[in-house]
Amino acid sequence: MAEFAEAVTAFFERRFGVAVGRSQLTALIGSKEGIGHLPTAVVNPGEVVLVPEPGYPVYTSAAVFAGGEPVRLSLRSDGGWLPDFAAVPEDVARRAKLMYLNYPNNPTGAVANLDFFERALRFAQANDILIAHDAAYSEVFFEHKPHSLLELGGAFDHVIEFHSLSKSFNMTGWRIAFAVGNAEAVASLTKVKDNVDSGPFNAIQHAAADALTHADHVDVRAMSDVYRQRRDIVVAGLNEAGIPVDAPEAGFYVWAPCPDGYTSMEFVAKVLTDVSVVTIPGTGFGPLGEGYFRIALTVDADRMGQAMERIRSVKR
Ligand SMILES: *Cc1c(COP(=O)(O)O)cnc(C)c1O
Repeated sequence: MAEFAEAVTAFFERRFGVAVGRSQLTALIGSKEGIGHLPTAVVNPGEVVLVPEPGYPVYTSAAVFAGGEPVRLSLRSDGGWLPDFAAVPEDVARRAKLMYLNYPNNPTGAVANLDFFERALRFAQANDILIAHDAAYSEVFFEHKPHSLLELGGAFDHVIEFHSLSKSFNMTGWRIAFAVGNAEAVASLTKVKDNVDSGPFNAIQHAAADALTHADHVDVRAMSDVYRQRRDIVVAGLNEAGIPVDAPEAGFYVWAPCPDGYTSMEFVAKVLTDVSVVTIPGTGFGPLGEGYFRIALTVDADRMGQAMERIRSVKR
């Protein structure tokens, strides 16, 4: 709908200072839908898809569905959970067609600065790779505003970026999002979508346009303050429990190391069975998530506090 497209364009200009043309954007039925369909649109069987790990599992499934070959980009704590492009073997980089990135990051809570985005873009330019940047958490931040990769000069040649109303505007169940970026990639994705769906329900596009146009970040900032309060409770609680964590700058997850002597599954199972608190094993985000567990800041502060008391009481 023109109304939704105009709202996206105005939002992008206001929030990131980036001008987006009508052929450079498309509405999605949630960003997962676009992320999942993109390889069908741009990857040929046997081509490499670079996938960050630990990471959102859809990137790998989407690559496999399209007959691509997912190859992991390792994210490590000592690298700030940013991939090291120099570590990608040359032949793999040459065979790569698509690379997923996700900042602010799920599950680690890491954010990326423009220096990192510059490195990513140079790597994509050198190897003719399309970057699919998943920016689902761009409006859930506590310190600095996260950047769009599309802020960089020349980015529209190599980037398609996924934005979602799900987390930013608490509209998860409404299924509305958008992709912005390279016009050819947007056109290919739209072609696939024309054959499998018919776009989001118009009433929901109206509502999303309204959110993008009128929320003007006041409600969104108030929402981030709620997450910040919960984050601080969890970070303090885990540190008091002897589980050292830093406060994430964005997103609504705390990514924490398991205590010595426990695998992710063992620790998560122990916390569940001993004190009835549900956390997510790091291995749910790929084998490189081993040794970590994730807490989602999606219940209220009182309940979060209770959960932290219970985790403190676990005998280990
Ligand atoms: C939640 C999430 C999404 C999907 O959100 P939609 O509701 O489909 O827009 C995409 N990427 C990441 C990293 C997520 O955590």
